[in-house]
Amino acid sequence: MVATNSSAAAHTKAKTTSIRWSETDVAKLIELWSTNLSNAEIAKILKREESAVAVKASRINLPRRKQMKSKDSKARVRPCLRCQTPFYSGGPGNRFCDPCKDSSDWKNGNDHYSAVGGY
Ligand SMILES: [Zn+2]
Repeated sequence: MVATNSSAAAHTKAKTTSIRWSETDVAKLIELWSTNLSNAEIAKILKREESAVAVKASRINLPRRKQMKSKDSKARVRPCLRCQTPFYSGGPGNRFCDPCKDSSDWKNGNDHYSAVGGY
């Protein structure tokens, strides 16, 4: 277990009094978001308010959950291999978020990740 509280907090302007989300918390949220648990259940697991969970999910651009359930089981939220932003991936072959795929680097084939994407 490594505590990451002190270092990353420097340039974060806290507007609210809510508990900060650690990287671990965010990772857990993303993982739980891909399951069939309700927001309330996720909130309970993360020991946060349900509204806090919803707000955080929208801040990190997690997809709407209804939208996710309608897709096949391989689809889940994955971190983009290029920018690390969590996004809704339709399957293991889809590892880059839309902004990255739309970037000029991607289109020009300059991004070295495009060689392994197989997309
Ligand atoms: Zn990306």
